[in-house]
Amino acid sequence: MEPSRQQAYLALIQQLLQCPSGEEPALLEAHRELLNAEFLATCEQVAQTLEERGDQNTALCLRNLATQLGCLHGVSCGSLMGVRTVLRLGDPRLRQSAKAVPDVHDPALRQLITDLHDTMEACSGAGLAAPQIGVLLRVVLFGCGGPNPRYPDAPPLPRTLLINPVLTPLGPERDEGWEGCLSVPGLRGRVSRWQRLRYQGIDGDGQPVDRCVEGFHARVVQHECDHLDGVLFPDRLSDPTAFGFIPELEAAGLIPA
Ligand SMILES: [Zn+2]
Repeated sequence: MEPSRQQAYLALIQQLLQCPSGEEPALLEAHRELLNAEFLATCEQVAQTLEERGDQNTALCLRNLATQLGCLHGVSCGSLMGVRTVLRLGDPRLRQSAKAVPDVHDPALRQLITDLHDTMEACSGAGLAAPQIGVLLRVVLFGCGGPNPRYPDAPPLPRTLLINPVLTPLGPERDEGWEGCLSVPGLRGRVSRWQRLRYQGIDGDGQPVDRCVEGFHARVVQHECDHLDGVLFPDRLSDPTAFGFIPELEAAGLIPA
């Protein structure tokens, strides 16, 4: 991102956070040229920094603004069209079982895939499942092909779209690891997952996917596919005390700062 562009995004974010409630739409309207997916990604980065400093309220405000922005300007601002609101814990839609995709060539599925891509990118997510954007179909997307700002220490995963996934654990070994979720913002919890597994499914071109993976890759697949059955990571905590807000967990030395 160009430094001058980033400065302009940061200045607008600052104005948004300081402007009187209700005046945000006018302010955004006056800066239409800055309203794009890159701006949303910057909002998310700033929200994460605020969270790390313990300012959960401002982070939440900023995320809400960014979400509204995606909805309000989605029609007229092309690059935002695919950014959808991510449902949060408590929304009953996250608790339903998703249905198998009957036809991978359905045009509605193309739109869903674009929306998953754009939304995951705007939120810097490690993965996203269709139910998280309110679509009850068995489709998940994960991996950004490079380092992820939300999980800087994690190995990069190949960008993978998986339709109607089937997971088979390979061996009895399990790993403990900390997880977060775009639907559970600001929190992390320690979860036990199969260490190695095989996953099969269909990609966005209708081609078969069949991989044997382990470690972080296996964890992300299990986390995303859980969403298809209405399961979120707090349901699977290994220990209820190994769960909390990121700054508190960092201060306690439970997760790396
Ligand atoms: Zn999740």
